[in-house]
Amino acid sequence: MIFDALELNYSKINAYLSCPLLYKFIYVDRHYAPPTGPSSFGLSLHRAIARYHSGGRNLNDLMVYYQDSWLHQGYETPQQAMEYFRNGEKILEKWHAFHLEETNKVLYWEKNFRFEMDRWTIKGTIDRIDILPSGGAEIIDYKTGYDGRTEEQTANSLQLGMYAIAAEEAFGLKPKKITFFLLAEPQKISVPFTKEIKERTLDIIRDAGMKIFEEDFTGRGNCEHCPIRKTCRESTAKETPSDTVQK
Ligand code: SF4
Repeated sequence: MIFDALELNYSKINAYLSCPLLYKFIYVDRHYAPPTGPSSFGLSLHRAIARYHSGGRNLNDLMVYYQDSWLHQGYETPQQAMEYFRNGEKILEKWHAFHLEETNKVLYWEKNFRFEMDRWTIKGTIDRIDILPSGGAEIIDYKTGYDGRTEEQTANSLQLGMYAIAAEEAFGLKPKKITFFLLAEPQKISVPFTKEIKERTLDIIRDAGMKIFEEDFTGRGNCEHCPIRKTCRESTAKETPSDTVQK
């Protein structure tokens, strides 16, 4: 497939902002960034929850969906995979209890979107969109990482900003809140979706989009947390032991 600089999504912009060379590696040179244990784990949980939203009736259904959705790639040993799997069962059990108490109406889950912005086509998938009891939409992204998130990080999230704009542009909704849903807690970190967040997000998309369009691949990111640090020619952290990239 030919490199299309005018088609953007969150992963592409995030890769470019992390390191222009990472973007080039994946999207221009079309190398495959291998899955890590944490990325497979996150995807397995996302798939199980999405299937539950599609018609799951109880915790038992959710656990069956989890087993069906399990991805085993990227773990260092079978034992490590099993530890992750068992932990995922506990996380889903707590998520299910939390979800039963929620008063929002779940409108969409794993919802694909596409809209045009200036010269770009923006595409992606939103974990979940709820309709709030007071009206308006809540844009939710599930996180499986254990790093604590703050309201400030939520307000500064490019991903949530993009998804809220997509909810407006692609689905005609009025996003009122953007939320990181921390599955391991479980806990929701929410902030209002403001005009400032929207403007800042649009500026980031346009700025990164122009640099990608102009094929500006100068600048380097933090190699220690890079998924291709072991193979990248310019890596300064080929020997860093653990994978930390999570959805
Ligand atoms: S290993 Fe370092 S230089 Fe290479 S793509 Fe990753 S962040 Fe950039």
